Amino acid sequence: MTTVSAVPVVTTGPDRFGRLLRDVRISVTDRCNFRCPYCMPKARFGPGHRFLPRAEALDAREIVRLAGVFASLGVTKIRLTGGEPLLRPDLVEIVEGIAKLGVPDIALTTNGALLRRWAVRLRDAGLQRVTVSLDSLDPAVFTSMSDSRIELSEVLDGIAAARDAGLAPIKLNCVVQRGVNEDGLLDLVGFARREGLGLRCIEYMDVGATNGWRMADVVSGEEILERVRHVYPLLEEAPDPAAVARTYRFADGSGDLGVITSVSRPFCGDCTRARLGVDGKLYTCLFATAGIDLREPLRSGADDDALRRIVADRWKRRDDRYSELRGLGIAEGERIEMSYIGG
Ligand code: SAM
Ligand code: SF4
Ligand code: SF4
Repeated sequence: MTTVSAVPVVTTGPDRFGRLLRDVRISVTDRCNFRCPYCMPKARFGPGHRFLPRAEALDAREIVRLAGVFASLGVTKIRLTGGEPLLRPDLVEIVEGIAKLGVPDIALTTNGALLRRWAVRLRDAGLQRVTVSLDSLDPAVFTSMSDSRIELSEVLDGIAAARDAGLAPIKLNCVVQRGVNEDGLLDLVGFARREGLGLRCIEYMDVGATNGWRMADVVSGEEILERVRHVYPLLEEAPDPAAVARTYRFADGSGDLGVITSVSRPFCGDCTRARLGVDGKLYTCLFATAGIDLREPLRSGADDDALRRIVADRWKRRDDRYSELRGLGIAEGERIEMSYIGG
């Protein structure tokens, strides 16, 4: 594998709160084969919804080029997400291109429904690990939480395919929603432990502007831990400032559990993450209300130095800390949808 060839000529340096840019999430498509009500509710993303025209989305070469720019600025982790990244026919080309840059950590978040079709090709392209979103093992709850014709068995088969292909570690993401899937939490924990998968429970967040989020629907990380601990004793791991999840090991040694407490215990102080939207806009927060356009300079011939300067300049001015402000009751603004900005 080749390594990043460009010598960094501009480093981003710290943002206004002293945070460095280390991690970029790239939304490769705003389309999805699910309609999870907490992310892309059908009422808003139904047949009349206008997705981004393909010509406006970055193509594979443009994505890889920008990934190289990020890597040369010190980014060590790139996660491909969306929307549903496995709907993108050229995903293998994207993974291959990023792997050739020598980025140490390339990850993919998927709903898993198409993993059986893709796992081997993605592994061959250089993907090492995968995160599959799975909110419930109850077929009826799964169907209401994904709101599509795709069955739970297809996602479970996708997870098996990822394992057969040797992708490791395989992690599961579960958004825990009050009165929706909270009762199935222990079943998921049991499944993850049996199968050797790392489960990460995510607090339901007020992303975008269409999911009708209410604080009352959030099950806090503390409550999640309390419920799990009751059955499976847990030991807290030393906090990893680079990770969004607080991790707990099961006391009997059967794997670990992560909780992502973006609502009840925000972690903006450690946030080294930027997001690249489907059309090439760079956002410095999941809850951003505006991004800066990298596609226009890219398409009008800007060289890598110029692109690095644009990114570095934006990062230097970054003062995002939405989740902390939410806790103080002063967060505001019309936010971009998560499928577009990259979950
Ligand atoms: N389609 C892929 C998937 O579902 O894994 C990737 C994109 S999805 C936007 C990325 C992650 O965001 C998923 O794990 C999903 O559960 C999470 N997510 C979406 N909406 C959320 C919300 N309102 N609160 C918390 N997590 C959310
Ligand atoms: Fe699609 Fe993922 Fe959003 Fe569900 S969470 S609607 S699978 S992008
Ligand atoms: Fe980072 Fe924004 Fe989330 Fe805070 S709210 S952790 S700054 S993405």
